Amino acid sequence: MLKKEERKKFNGVISGDHVSLTTNKSLVDEEWFHGVLPREEVVRLLTTDGDFLVRETTRNDECQTVLSVCWSGHKHFIVQTTAEGHYRFEGPAFPTIRDLILYQFNSGLPVTQRSGAVLYKPIPRERWELNNDDVQLLDTIGRGNFGDVYRAQLKNSNEVVAVKTCRLTLPEEHKKKFLQEGRILKQYDHPNIVKLIGICVQKQPIMIVMELVPGGSLLNFLRKKGSGLAEGQLMKMCMDVAAGMRYLESKNCIHRDLAARNCLVGYNNTVKISDFGMSREEEEYTVSDGMKQIPIKWTAPESLHFGKYTSLSDVWSYGILCWEIFSRGATPYSDLSNSKARLKIDEGYRMPAPENTPDEMYRLMLRCWEYKPENRPNFEQIYTVVETLCAAYRFC
Ligand code: ADP
Repeated sequence: MLKKEERKKFNGVISGDHVSLTTNKSLVDEEWFHGVLPREEVVRLLTTDGDFLVRETTRNDECQTVLSVCWSGHKHFIVQTTAEGHYRFEGPAFPTIRDLILYQFNSGLPVTQRSGAVLYKPIPRERWELNNDDVQLLDTIGRGNFGDVYRAQLKNSNEVVAVKTCRLTLPEEHKKKFLQEGRILKQYDHPNIVKLIGICVQKQPIMIVMELVPGGSLLNFLRKKGSGLAEGQLMKMCMDVAAGMRYLESKNCIHRDLAARNCLVGYNNTVKISDFGMSREEEEYTVSDGMKQIPIKWTAPESLHFGKYTSLSDVWSYGILCWEIFSRGATPYSDLSNSKARLKIDEGYRMPAPENTPDEMYRLMLRCWEYKPENRPNFEQIYTVVETLCAAYRFC
């Protein structure tokens, strides 16, 4: 922890850390103002005692400004408004929230006596945190679980991007889940994983900005254009997904919702894995909050029975995804209900190969559908198999 005398005093600019607290700025222009960034994301940014930032939150339809500080854990102080319309915590009141925060920072006094929390270091926005106004929405290209997906343009670079929006009316809980995808994606860089450009949390609606993958969802693509695709091209799609999944496996990321509907098709029919809304960064993840909205026909038996997810349960879904690719967008177990399909799988039933599926590819699907996860190949092994098959079709 920094000693008080070591703190860089505010007199226009805080030296070091590239964080300016200059005069004549409004609160929203300050680098340490994080808009409506949810609390979960905020605590991730505040790691050392004295780290602080300011954000907004909505409680009972009322917008509140919150000072979040790392101080023996995390403390969140709601800015109080006086009868005169000034702002304060326990000490003096100021005409602007910005003045209040600067006072707390300069004085080195605790925000409240009880907490003892002192402001040492303003934490600036991450490079991912874009301004909502930097993005111009153009037209709707899809509908997600949380809100519409748009084609959009970044005003600074003119880059055309895809933007997922989160409906204002969704409960706070869902808004947090919405940003989960951004949190996961920002760490990854792979040609077969959709790229994150940024998140917009300066104000509502919160948005996730991603690279635009022009062919849209793989499922629609297969249904519309699948009849024109040769086996070698289908194999190449399976290889693209295997490459992306091998990368995720190496990062201990479990996708949990791998399916053709959650992949996108880019230039040269390159497949990119998308929709990381359910993904987790853990070697093993056990669901404890019930099994709502589980994609039963894509989910491995151990996940359905025990809520246990690993990369090897993603392997099961990968087998189903390959089946979707080779059937050119058919629905798995189309003559069975979810619960019937589940029962039959437990009894040993497996889907037959779609027409014209190469034998080796179907053998791989069956290995992915081994009942016990430890008997399935991992993505490293799968990639090697599919790459070899692809080479035979001269599609690598
Ligand atoms: P959610 O995660 O909320 O379910 P999806 O990721 O499934 O949303 O997106 C819904 C649809 O929006 C997709 O099926 C696809 O058509 C379109 N879409 C999503 N992301 C992109 C993108 N990066 N590029 C192009 N289209 C996209």
